[in-house]
Amino acid sequence: MADNGIYAPKAGYTNLITHKKPDISPLWWRDIWKLKAPPRTRLLFWCVLRDIIPTGEHLMRQAIYGPTWCSFCKMASETTVHLFLKCPIICVLWDNIITQLGITGQWSGEDIKVSWTNWHRQHMGSKLLNLPLVVTWYTWLARNRYIFNDHDVCWPRIEATIIAAYHELPEPPPTRTRTIQPPPYIDHNIPWAFFDGAANQTRCGGGFVLHINEQHSYSVKMGFGNGSNNYAELLALCNPMHFSLEHHHKNITIYGDSMTVINWINNASICHSHTLKNILDDALSLRTAFNHISCLHIYREHNSVADKLSKEAAILPRGEWLISEKQGAEEFRYYPRPFIDQSEQRDNNPGSRQ
Ligand SMILES: [Zn+2]
Repeated sequence: MADNGIYAPKAGYTNLITHKKPDISPLWWRDIWKLKAPPRTRLLFWCVLRDIIPTGEHLMRQAIYGPTWCSFCKMASETTVHLFLKCPIICVLWDNIITQLGITGQWSGEDIKVSWTNWHRQHMGSKLLNLPLVVTWYTWLARNRYIFNDHDVCWPRIEATIIAAYHELPEPPPTRTRTIQPPPYIDHNIPWAFFDGAANQTRCGGGFVLHINEQHSYSVKMGFGNGSNNYAELLALCNPMHFSLEHHHKNITIYGDSMTVINWINNASICHSHTLKNILDDALSLRTAFNHISCLHIYREHNSVADKLSKEAAILPRGEWLISEKQGAEEFRYYPRPFIDQSEQRDNNPGSRQ
């Protein structure tokens, strides 16, 4: 606060760094500074929240005598809570502003922090979050003009100024929300499979669920040992292809959430990794063994079964397979099953797994 009693950012900042009241959650701190209201209003509001504004009551406690009565209603001691929250004149100001803006919400609570928390909860992400800062700023200005410059307070003009200042604030950027994609349409007349790969720091694995029809399916987890996520995804894609051909199903639709691997198998992009290219070549030659095959990208939220299988597979030892077959209400489990890494047998017939 400058010597003339008018709020000045520099004086406010000095005040702020010399008064330590660590009772305000750091979240409030961050949120106030992120608002679009002018910096001086944010700084003042922050001081109000910390109750370090030189109200009449504060000055009296520091033995600086002056008016301690609320300048607006002259009915109560001028505390921070009274001046910005409880004063009947300020309550009317808030009511009028809320009515004029045609909004819902209340500036109320046992103290300023509670009011701000309530307001914050009601208006998170909205421009309205700035309103208490603007109201507080003009309230404090009116109070100082009254005390130091002997200006009468013209409340309708203050209301109009607050509303104009509020309208001038920019709208917050729209919060980015990703469109929820509809689940893929699945043709149940031919087998369909979902695959996924997962890698952790030490191992990777893959999982797939192959539906022969609505009654009959296989869920498979495969430990791949060391490798990257793309390696796991690519092997996880190859295996339902092998599995399907072994079971004499030459038509299939395969869904995966790795756009990279789906693009590779559809020849829509080029794989530049030498190791992965060998596996991809195997997969591409496997493709030719099908009468009909579609490999389609889906979003992760529609691939939860394979995602879960692959995460469980990533902790399996390399080469270990766990297969569960469901036929109607019956379930069978097989394990382990010898597993051959296509990248190591690429010189042999890539289609042979038996
Ligand atoms: Zn008052």
